[in-house]
Amino acid sequence: MARRRGGPAAAAATTVASLAVVATLAVMALVYYATLFVFLDHWLGLGTPAGAAHAAAVSLAVAASFFAFVCAAAADPGSVPASFAPDAEAAQGQQELKSRYCDKCCMFKPPRSHHCKVCKRCVLKMDHHCVWINNCVGYANYKAFIICVLNATIGSLYSFVIFLCDLLLKEHDFDILYVKIVYVLAAEIKSCIIDGNVPILRKNLLDLGWCIAVLLKLDNSSFNQYREAVRAKWLAKKSGQKYRHRFDLGMRKNIQMILGPNILCWLCPTATGHLKDGTEFQITNN
Ligand SMILES: [Zn+2]
Ligand SMILES: [Zn+2]
Repeated sequence: MARRRGGPAAAAATTVASLAVVATLAVMALVYYATLFVFLDHWLGLGTPAGAAHAAAVSLAVAASFFAFVCAAAADPGSVPASFAPDAEAAQGQQELKSRYCDKCCMFKPPRSHHCKVCKRCVLKMDHHCVWINNCVGYANYKAFIICVLNATIGSLYSFVIFLCDLLLKEHDFDILYVKIVYVLAAEIKSCIIDGNVPILRKNLLDLGWCIAVLLKLDNSSFNQYREAVRAKWLAKKSGQKYRHRFDLGMRKNIQMILGPNILCWLCPTATGHLKDGTEFQITNN
């Protein structure tokens, strides 16, 4: 029988209390405020038709990011059903059965599930534990997480373009406060991330890089499986073979497994009707 440590209410309370989550929301609010009320207002003016149109588009991107963020942070990423038992016939020997048993939860794990040391439980199709949402990214919230990162990336790039337009197309008094603030923030970010003063920030930038990589390569592998696959690819290349991840079903099916079969619902983080119980996954025949 599985041991569960804390229910959804406890998980939600932990999420709210997380400093990283508060910091993420604060950055989101700061970027929104600066983009609209500092850069855009100075560049076009919020009262002009062009300024209002840009303001509406930025607001939409930020609102969509925030909604997906809440969905990813508050959702249960995927609990292993208490009734789950591995198919002993399908398992290739005792060794595989043994590797599917979690000593900490005292239960068997379905394929692609992993034990999260932070959440202290096994998570279905666990990708990684994300400190920014203070939650695991797993089977049930993977879509919301991907949409959140996608919307945040689009919103950030849009914001950066508005900042550049204001900086390059308008006359500036370089003694003004916001230019000074931008320089100070840029120096701090460089110190934290590039100089490596805050390793956790650097590590979690990998989250962003990984999500973009997932969207680009779309081979249906998780972050954990990607690390395992690196060695398998190297071995296959060495023996003159082509490596293909066993859960890679081809681009179209991989996208549908994450975002759903209906293209109109791809950007809706709550449209997860295509998800099943997360204990079985189709594998490639190759
Ligand atoms: Zn476990
Ligand atoms: Zn976790």
